[in-house]
Amino acid sequence: MTANPLAPDWLSLPGDANALEPAIWSAGVERSAEGVIQVAGVPVTQLAREYGTPLYVMDEADVRTRAREAKLAFDREFAAVGSSAKVYYAGKAFLSTEVARWVTEEGLHIDVASGGELAVALAAGVDPALLGVHGNNKSLREIDRAVASGAGVIVIDSVDEIARVADAAEQHGVRQRVRLRVNSGVHASTHEYLATAREDQKFGIALADAEDVVALIRARSSLEFMGLHAHIGSQIFEAVGFSESARRLMTLQARLLGDGPVPELNLGGGFGIAYTSADEAMQVADIARALAEIVAAEARRLGIPVPVVAVEPGRAIVGPSTFTLYEVGTVKDVLVTIGGTTDDATAVRKYVSVDGGMSDNARTALYEADYSVRLAARVSEAEPALVRVAGKHCESGDIVVRADYLPGDVRPGDLVAVPATGAYCWSLSSNYNYLARPAVVAVRDGVSRIIVRGETEDDLLSRDAGIVRDTARNGN
Ligand SMILES: *Cc1c(COP(=O)(O)O)cnc(C)c1O
Repeated sequence: MTANPLAPDWLSLPGDANALEPAIWSAGVERSAEGVIQVAGVPVTQLAREYGTPLYVMDEADVRTRAREAKLAFDREFAAVGSSAKVYYAGKAFLSTEVARWVTEEGLHIDVASGGELAVALAAGVDPALLGVHGNNKSLREIDRAVASGAGVIVIDSVDEIARVADAAEQHGVRQRVRLRVNSGVHASTHEYLATAREDQKFGIALADAEDVVALIRARSSLEFMGLHAHIGSQIFEAVGFSESARRLMTLQARLLGDGPVPELNLGGGFGIAYTSADEAMQVADIARALAEIVAAEARRLGIPVPVVAVEPGRAIVGPSTFTLYEVGTVKDVLVTIGGTTDDATAVRKYVSVDGGMSDNARTALYEADYSVRLAARVSEAEPALVRVAGKHCESGDIVVRADYLPGDVRPGDLVAVPATGAYCWSLSSNYNYLARPAVVAVRDGVSRIIVRGETEDDLLSRDAGIVRDTARNGN
């Protein structure tokens, strides 16, 4: 058996196409003696029977452990340099009231980026003082609600917002804590990072303008300036981008200290996770150590105190906790001509179509993200075949897993699981083709329960103002 020439360079032929690589799956996932994937002791066959497919299956203990370990690592590393740290969970990765409670119970704060996310965090009963409110274009209502509810800190993203937040704080008779988002000129994504003087994007204030803008914030007595904020990108695998951003912000921090207090420094999120066997994610403990070292070294060089540092991981907390469970509907061997050859060589790509798709995982279509896939309810010794897992939408770009190897006898009726779908899948889901969004099920200690129910056809029709007859509705 040789590798399929259609396989991307990073994908090697697996020794065992049934193996579950620990880096890609949540800690509670294993195969039973019968070959059935189970999470926290609950087999996927039972989950599929009880809740149907597609289904997001979340390992609660995995989310809690990652949240706790991030908090412990940042506390430890910043205590060692005479300061402390706050870890915000970036709610946009996945937010429900349950998850908001889990992460705050484990010692995290929460970032929200819209009125809707704020509403979910408040509905969870989270102490508003733990919330950070983001957004490059917050509406007046969103600002008012954030201030009125007692949100811990609002991240100001533009000069326009200074007066809006200050006025709201005055109206409510409070002094609102704020950060200023700056554009550090560092942009990191996946395996590369770029540092420029000025970055061409919508977020934040250019570093060169930040001193003037902070002066405007300090001039408003209803605002309390807490410090700078920068977020340099997502799915980052190396500390160098974070270090460069921290270095630039600390230089500015020293200048700002000349005119008043700057107690904190928020370095954003973006810590990468493994989606495939080719990804080697950084450990959060290593990121914490690297950031503490660079911030402390810069503080020494500049002769200023080490600030309280805040970070905002989303994906790294929730991404690996979840897999999506699908049922295979059709399998097609597609003969593909291999470009650049003289003799029209061909190879077979096996298209495995599942009962979901780009509506429950938009990242593949949106970012050309790579995922992995495994047979979920059985193992097989059949020769591995290169597969592409496609969805059921009317779109050829409707792909969930661009390339992986599955046992070649994969067939209709099989359950397959796509790991590392906890972040930016449910939160980016849509109703394209009027597919109902799948349920999210949390599993813990052998017990599963719905934390967000799936949509029904009634849900899908419920906002349509022109329905003629109730009999047209075939609710499920
Ligand atoms: C998206 C975002 C995050 C989280 O990014 P992850 O890649 O999920 O860690 C944190 N902070 C801000 C401001 C963001 O926009």
